[in-house]
Amino acid sequence: MTATPDVELSATGTIRSPATGSVAGTVRWTDPADVPRIAAGLREAQRAWEARGPEGRAKVLARYAVWLGEHRDEIEHLLIRETGKSAIDAAQEVPLIIMIASYYIKTMAKALAPEKRPAPMPFLSIKRIEVHYRPRPVVGIIAPWNYPVANALMDAIGALAAGCAVLLKPSERTPLTAELLLRGWQDCGAPEVLALAQGAREVSEAVIDNSDFVQFTGSSATGVKVMERAARRLIPVSLELGGKDPMIVLDDADIELAAHAAVWGAMFNAGQTCVSVERVYVLESVYEQFVDAVVRDVEKLRTGAGEGGDFGALIDENQLAVTERHVADAKAKGAKVLTGGRRRPGPGCFYEPTVLVDVDHSMLCMTEETFGPTLPIMKVGSVAEAIRLANDSPYGLSAAVFSRDVERAKSVAVQLDCGAVNINDVISNLMCTTAPMGGWKASGLGARFGGPDGIRKYCRQEVIVSPRTSIGAGSTYYSNSPKALKRMNKLLTRLALIGPRRAAK
Ligand code: NAD
Repeated sequence: MTATPDVELSATGTIRSPATGSVAGTVRWTDPADVPRIAAGLREAQRAWEARGPEGRAKVLARYAVWLGEHRDEIEHLLIRETGKSAIDAAQEVPLIIMIASYYIKTMAKALAPEKRPAPMPFLSIKRIEVHYRPRPVVGIIAPWNYPVANALMDAIGALAAGCAVLLKPSERTPLTAELLLRGWQDCGAPEVLALAQGAREVSEAVIDNSDFVQFTGSSATGVKVMERAARRLIPVSLELGGKDPMIVLDDADIELAAHAAVWGAMFNAGQTCVSVERVYVLESVYEQFVDAVVRDVEKLRTGAGEGGDFGALIDENQLAVTERHVADAKAKGAKVLTGGRRRPGPGCFYEPTVLVDVDHSMLCMTEETFGPTLPIMKVGSVAEAIRLANDSPYGLSAAVFSRDVERAKSVAVQLDCGAVNINDVISNLMCTTAPMGGWKASGLGARFGGPDGIRKYCRQEVIVSPRTSIGAGSTYYSNSPKALKRMNKLLTRLALIGPRRAAK
């Protein structure tokens, strides 16, 4: 787990495009000392937001979703300027958020409705048991740079739906898109329950110190620091962290499909996706065929920001240096570069799409998160070896298995130590927001989405127990004689043991 180096903030707030070096815009950094005041304002506004109830909040979220749809072009142009993404990659983010908002708008009232719980024992049917979901007032969202719209809003929408106010700390590398997203929230007449804190580590720390829940997305090394800081105030965190996702290609796979998926999964957004395909294990008998198909696909790819590029720039020189280091390390240890393997000549932080073979687990490209457009492919002798190698990682975000026999692929999937497995596809679990998305091991703690859980995670559970009848009221208090209480406890034990006695037979 390597920590991303701290970025030095430009004193003027100038943000430059990694594709061209030209100015993408300027931002006013937040003074960390101002964060308590911003959080206090949110805390105040949150009360009325909660009081609107789910239906009232759903209306506001619906207006915001419409605003996002109507301003898609403007958002995507800014995304391209700020991150150097290709137009195809930039076009993925807004629809995902509208889809998530649309689902929450439809389901939030049900997700937040008090739940009736059954009596655990018949004698407790004198009680009405309810669980109420009450929002945590201020949710701090700390986001990375790779998807400035999605990383900001995919969690914020759930928190806002829950009735929380949101203090969003975008990455210091991509603060501009967040400014536009906030302007949209204000333009559609929404209350002041969404605010920004712009800056780097110190501002993040102030956000943690002034929130009631922290939703963090970023590297595993930073995730540890976030959790340590949150522990000082005993506030909960949800951590969506780095990955080194494996793909396994079995000998009965549709090889063309597997190759297309591997290339897209590895190169999409220049490989800067937490769930990108970072390493591939291919059964010996189909290895040559798979590698040939991958190389054919990769050779057709064009790098470039905006229109015309399949994928765009890396976010900065640091990210490019990590990719260069992993490829150099692999070459030094005996790997072969079949395509790419170098920075694209000319201006901008571009790296050529790169296929590596003859790789093994002594190499950084197979063990550390690269977050660049590389695809290392390893030949394996058996399914068991593929599973062992896939699990040989500190990470456990997601994985992919390719086989024409879906049941066989599933039997492999359930042996992989990670939060999600896509069969005959890559990354698609991200769209399936009724299921949780969360990593195992160093890839995270908790999960986002998961149907109603994607809203309830921002709430505290309040249990309200009320009487159904006055019969039995006060029967356990001191007004009873010790003898009567003893008799009652004996009876309760006998009743509670009926089930276990039956089950133990
Ligand atoms: P990062 O950890 O460097 O930064 C993430 C955020 O944390 C930024 O906003 C940054 O300002 C802030 N930060 C930095 N130091 C901090 C500290 N000490 N305390 C609190 N906050 C601090 O990550 P990054 O380079 O921006 O993003 C890339 C990483 O994010 C990759 O590892 C990628 O896999 C991961 N990621 C994970 C998911 C997921 O859903 N699992 C999604 C996207 C990205």
